[in-house]
Amino acid sequence: MSFGRRGKYFEEFLNPRAANGIGDFLELNLIPNLKGIYREDLLKHHGLKPKKPEAQAVLLSHAHADHANYISFLHEDIPIYCGKTCKYILEAVKEQAKREIENEVIDYKKRPVFKSNYRDPPIIRDFITFRTGDKIKIDNLEIEPCHVDHSVPGAYGFIIHTSEGTIIYTGDLRAHGIHKEMTEDFIINSTMEKPIALITEGTRVDSGKTLESEDKVYDKCKKNLIENNRLSIVDFNFKDVDRFTTFYKIAKEIGKKLVISFKHACYLERYHRDKKLKTPDSKDENIFILKPKRLSGTYIDEDYIDYYIKKRLSYPNIITAEDIRKKPKNCIVIINFWYLNMLVDLKPKKGMYIHSLSEPFNEEMKISYERMVNWIMHYDMNFIQSHCSGHINGPDLMDMIKKINPKNVYPIHTEKPQLFNKLKTNTVMVKEAKEYKL
Ligand SMILES: [Zn+2]
Ligand SMILES: [Zn+2]
Repeated sequence: MSFGRRGKYFEEFLNPRAANGIGDFLELNLIPNLKGIYREDLLKHHGLKPKKPEAQAVLLSHAHADHANYISFLHEDIPIYCGKTCKYILEAVKEQAKREIENEVIDYKKRPVFKSNYRDPPIIRDFITFRTGDKIKIDNLEIEPCHVDHSVPGAYGFIIHTSEGTIIYTGDLRAHGIHKEMTEDFIINSTMEKPIALITEGTRVDSGKTLESEDKVYDKCKKNLIENNRLSIVDFNFKDVDRFTTFYKIAKEIGKKLVISFKHACYLERYHRDKKLKTPDSKDENIFILKPKRLSGTYIDEDYIDYYIKKRLSYPNIITAEDIRKKPKNCIVIINFWYLNMLVDLKPKKGMYIHSLSEPFNEEMKISYERMVNWIMHYDMNFIQSHCSGHINGPDLMDMIKKINPKNVYPIHTEKPQLFNKLKTNTVMVKEAKEYKL
């Protein structure tokens, strides 16, 4: 899913129509016109002849929306291979997100939707999960997933053995993160293969060497949070478990409680299942869950219709904004942009706002950013920016390619593929939906 391309035609209240099935997406090139991969119901609805799928599998590198969401359109007979933790995260997304045609990853409902069939159970996709070290056989290919460090756990690159040689796919990765040894493993394993092709991400191919690190986020945020004796608000991407761990650790060390939302609880409970992540359960003593105002605005049980909230209403650590206002300096509240209106109840006057996300890099983000600034100014809050990117920087990327030393480089996931031309290695400018022979 390309946010950029989607954003060219659509915005908040102008969206592709689910009632036109796959039609709007094909018309605007939001998905490529490939044969033998799409759902029968969507093809039929669009007046095309349904076909048996020609693809035997899809390899999913990690659970970010740009990689996972358009699994929605795929035929249910195509199995999806992904990491165990990646699947947990997709389940957390499903639990708390409203069903849309663009997020039917775990399962989907047949379209078109009629009054007669809208209650039919969804069709569940076939997911096959793996861990680093596993070897996957698909047709005559052997695939080795290898963990990489990225801003979401359960992220993998793939080493694909073919009769013509080895193909490496990086997924999204970075060399400066807290688990950089995972990316190093991937690079070492790839180097040993003498691959004929490297398909690589290049999100930040144009960036210079950066000095960012998760430790720096920890140091800066901890120092500021200690000094703040009023309410602290923080915004970060909850799929980033390293960032969650940073703030959880800080909260514990300085004797404050980390306040999450019911949506966050869906994620945290999945992370907790993966013992390697060492994250607490959502009922942990250092965590509070903030109850949102719904329907009557009086916090009565009947107000909560969403099942993901309803089933957690009896947790012992649920609090309201009014509770937080009694002891504001005891809390660090995680509030994402779309929930800034909760500040009206929290009243964080002269408190602190930590923006632990990347700074805006396009027009739409700048407009949202301006709104956020207005909220911060309204409450006269102290603003802190602190982030560490999930993507490899330019020099590290070039280093990685030189080490892996493939015969050919195929840059994808980048707006500046031409910058790869400075490499000595042969670089292929990739065209979408075109077949490449090795
Ligand atoms: Zn990603
Ligand atoms: Zn990505």
